[in-house]
Amino acid sequence: MTTRLMTADPESLALAADLLKSGNLVGFPTETVYGLGANALDAEAVLSIFAAKGRPADNPLIVHIYDQAQLSPLCDIPDRAPVLMNAFWPGPLTLLFPRKPAIPDQVTAGLPTVAIRMPSHPVAAAMLKACDLPVAAPSANRSGRPSPTTAQHVLQDMNGRIPLILDGGPCEVGLESTVVDLCHGRPVILRPGGITKEMLEKALGEEVSVAGSVLRPLEPGEKALSPGMRYKHYAPAGTVTLVEGEEEKVVALLKELCLKDIAEGRKSCVLCFSEHVPFLSDCCPHDMGFSKDYSEIAHRLFDILRRLDQEGMETIYSEVIPPEGVGLAVMNRLGRASAFRTIRV
Ligand code: AMP
Ligand code: MG
Repeated sequence: MTTRLMTADPESLALAADLLKSGNLVGFPTETVYGLGANALDAEAVLSIFAAKGRPADNPLIVHIYDQAQLSPLCDIPDRAPVLMNAFWPGPLTLLFPRKPAIPDQVTAGLPTVAIRMPSHPVAAAMLKACDLPVAAPSANRSGRPSPTTAQHVLQDMNGRIPLILDGGPCEVGLESTVVDLCHGRPVILRPGGITKEMLEKALGEEVSVAGSVLRPLEPGEKALSPGMRYKHYAPAGTVTLVEGEEEKVVALLKELCLKDIAEGRKSCVLCFSEHVPFLSDCCPHDMGFSKDYSEIAHRLFDILRRLDQEGMETIYSEVIPPEGVGLAVMNRLGRASAFRTIRV
């Protein structure tokens, strides 16, 4: 199969809509990461997403809509959901809803809930409107690779596997959506993202909890509330180690660890804040953005993780940010990239 990479315009959007309506897959931009979409009501089409990604069948997908009127045939609506939908849709927030039979088992991996969101990216919205279908879409990467934040990333992973990628430029948020469960009483963040705990609490006027496995590895036998959290999703091929502590000591240790590895013949680098790049110039620094600019760090993270693999990095030492605001989502992804390997100084 040849994969066409097309700038999003009326012609390519019409082609995308035709492909989706006839059971094919389309790579498309959203404000979070690029998605790999199929008609959510067509079990065969949904199965082909799992094949193209090499994704385990027990990892459910997110259904994308452009209008709240699309919800009623798909799911019931829990009490607090309208508040969050009205506050944050369209935007990077996924909610779990009790599913109705129209949703095939393949979408939810057999779970009783279906994850749904309304993306704000104009290309995603236009595509959803043009096909007028709910579109099931996980991130458009091969399973186990960092999520794609540019159309080029999608091409790297999906060339020859899907007929079309719509190019809408780099994704603004750069991390996957926040996943919130409202179906079991108190709201719980299963996966942190661009809509923060603080934003959710303000909108709901009550406390929102965070699933325990967000900032630590799953314990043996522990069930992941968000199935994707089971997998080593965000890990580059090299070994990532996080270094945490007082600024000057962190920079000194990053330099020491990296230079030692280089001296011993390993390909090694650091992930550091913009203000530390000049001190780490002999450590192949990858600039994460300024330490206080969490949104920029989120925006750059997956592109940096992909480059580490292209550069064949064997050991990677990274700075950390506090798990506050978007920092929680960044530290969840960095934590998983490092299997939570952390040195404190
Ligand atoms: P992706 O778009 O590739 O990040 O994958 C979607 C993720 O959403 C999955 O890996 C799950 O972690 C989460 N998800 C989707 N549906 C559900 C559900 N019904 N219950 C809990 N988590 C879900
Ligand atoms: Mg994914």
